[in-house]
Amino acid sequence: MRFSGFKVVKEALTGHRGWKPLWRDPAPQTHYDIIIVGGGGHGLATAYHLAATFGQARIAVLEKGWLGGGNIGRNTTIIRSNYLLPGNEPFYEFSMKLWESMEQALNFNAMVSQRGILNLCHTDAQRDAFRRRGNAMLLAGADAELLDRDGVRAMAPFLNFDNARFPIKGGLLQRRAGTARHDGVAWGYARAADQRGVDILQNCEVTGFRIENGTVKGVETSRGYIGAGKVGVAVAGSSGRVMQMAGMRLPIESHVLQAFVSEGLKPVIPGVITFGAGHFYVSQSDKGGLVFGGDIDGYNSYAQRGNLPVVEDVAEGGMALMPMIGRARLLRMWGGVMDMSMDGSPILDRTDVDGLFFNGGWCYGGFKATPASGYCFAHLLATGRPHETAAAYRLDRFARGHVIDEKGVGAQPNLH
Ligand SMILES: Cc1cc2nc3c(=O)[nH]c(=O)nc-3n(C[C@H](O)[C@H](O)[C@H](O)COP(=O)(O)OP(=O)(O)OC[C@H]3O[C@@H](n4cnc5c(N)ncnc54)[C@H](O)[C@@H]3O)c2cc1C
Repeated sequence: MRFSGFKVVKEALTGHRGWKPLWRDPAPQTHYDIIIVGGGGHGLATAYHLAATFGQARIAVLEKGWLGGGNIGRNTTIIRSNYLLPGNEPFYEFSMKLWESMEQALNFNAMVSQRGILNLCHTDAQRDAFRRRGNAMLLAGADAELLDRDGVRAMAPFLNFDNARFPIKGGLLQRRAGTARHDGVAWGYARAADQRGVDILQNCEVTGFRIENGTVKGVETSRGYIGAGKVGVAVAGSSGRVMQMAGMRLPIESHVLQAFVSEGLKPVIPGVITFGAGHFYVSQSDKGGLVFGGDIDGYNSYAQRGNLPVVEDVAEGGMALMPMIGRARLLRMWGGVMDMSMDGSPILDRTDVDGLFFNGGWCYGGFKATPASGYCFAHLLATGRPHETAAAYRLDRFARGHVIDEKGVGAQPNLH
């Protein structure tokens, strides 16, 4: 089933009886060439690229719950490539370019909207840091513009410019950044992978790995044992728990991150705006809701719900930046479990077990990485070599001292 304007009109006129499920619900086979553990954005994108880009076959994605139930369907939908360090920026710009062609490649409307991201600065030192970051972005082929105070005012006149404590001095603007419909991304990759023969097995929890003589042979699951030539793990907030079953301890902590949506309002926020003097970011969905968030809850947890002190902190950030938000009513809030790495950057690597590969440590920035993470993890699984843009994301970098400390705050996940 291909989607097109013609198909939408035809179905509207014929009682919508021609739509079919987006993917099959197959029974597990006894053996696959490649098993991906985790049916989130990264797992599904990996399966898609294994089949579509690297010509692999006999692939299964094993998801313990339902597609879109993890962070892929819980994030605040921001996509961008405004990083500083050479280990990061080329990878995220590669991802941004893949976002730009993804909907055509998948034949799926994931509502990718390049409405821009504006990072506000409130001190001269912060503006210097943004100038440096913008130059690094330009060198990596991304777009970046430094706005002065008047430039910011022209874009977002409702901000609190004269807040005595946090006056707005300007901002770093990336116009190609924006938002995408988060669960739509999962559905698009799932449908396109399924069309290429990938088995997507929902309600199939991996409960153990079968490892013989240092080589992975398959996985134990809630639906029985399934053999595999290679296994790729992409379980985000569950990384520590799942890799522990393979005898590995990761440099990752799991933390809760909350998201908030207000009642629907008339269009007011032009793109994504981030507060530079606290942790608060906001955009507006197509339905009119203000979508916003802030810091992670400051303790380790696997619970997909958050706590009130962070709600208060996020609300304070919003009020300091744009006092008008105080008039909006909160409609919904939820939490997701973040895989916070010890330098704030991800891990995409093979492991000490032959045939077992790991993808994780995305912190709260993994949604924007979904296309490139899928491409690069598929590259690693198919060829055995890292993709050039993901070559720095080695698991042993913490032991070697080659950390990619984007924010320079070290092993403090609550500050990344
Ligand atoms: C509130 C919030 C806001 C965010 N905002 C942004 C943002 O604006 N921009 C951005 O770039 N990033 C954002 N993120 C981060 C981003 O969502 C994640 O980094 C990214 O989605 C993680 O990758 P994933 O999609 O594969 O994860 P998930 O969707 O969580 O996929 C992992 C899957 O693994 C499954 N799984 C776990 N254990 C097992 C098992 N034993 N067997 C089988 N399956 C298993 C889980 O059920 C889950 O479906 C945000 C996250 C949250 C929670």
